[in-house]
Amino acid sequence: MKKITIAIDGYSSCGKSTMAKDLAREVGYIYIDSGAMYRAVTLYCLDNGLFTPDGIDTAQLEAAMPNIRISFQLNPETQRPMTYLNGVNVEDRIRTMEVSTRVSPVAALPFVREALVKLQQEMGKAKGIVMDGRDIGTVVFPDAELKIFVVASAEIRAQRRYDELKAKGQEASYEEILANVKERDYIDQNREVSPLRQAEDAILLDNSNLTIEEQKQWLAAEFEKAVNGKC
Ligand code: C5P
Repeated sequence: MKKITIAIDGYSSCGKSTMAKDLAREVGYIYIDSGAMYRAVTLYCLDNGLFTPDGIDTAQLEAAMPNIRISFQLNPETQRPMTYLNGVNVEDRIRTMEVSTRVSPVAALPFVREALVKLQQEMGKAKGIVMDGRDIGTVVFPDAELKIFVVASAEIRAQRRYDELKAKGQEASYEEILANVKERDYIDQNREVSPLRQAEDAILLDNSNLTIEEQKQWLAAEFEKAVNGKC
């Protein structure tokens, strides 16, 4: 069967990665979480003192970009992808609130986007990939055969993120998460380079009132249509 490229974009914490991961596992495709890559660069900035009282030390970060290596490896037990930064597993560290509150300004830097988009396009060369993010259908893979744009209310998304952090035993405040979700939406939609927007040929999914199982079935049906249409 011909392999296709699947781009899943949408707002923070709208369940993109859950649906993308599940679909990739079911159809035997590679799954790439592009947000994890922006988070890894942000963690690099935190670990290397690149956040200054005035913002980000962009000169140092730009010089460091060629030395920031990001890769993914499957956890053999969970079969979930783990993010590696310069050979170190940073999967848990990139999901903290500290990274969440700092990532959007880092992701708005043109040279960061340029480097990561290039890497993402390399990863998708052979097709058979599901990638989620903010600009996958518009910039990274404009020719993707299946594009989905996911939306849900900010309150529902904050509650999901809160439940996720709690389940991992991390301290979290619902109010703080809601403020972070809204702030990231704003920065992601209003940045100059590759702002978050629905690609013209993307299918809109509002999953505010869908269970994970319902969403999974919906995506599986869209995948079938896309593949059969292209065979
Ligand atoms: O998907 P996730 O919420 O983990 O992404 C973290 C942040 O990375 C987003 O809030 C956004 O600022 C940025 N991002 C991006 N482009 C992508 C994926 C994520 O700008 N393709």
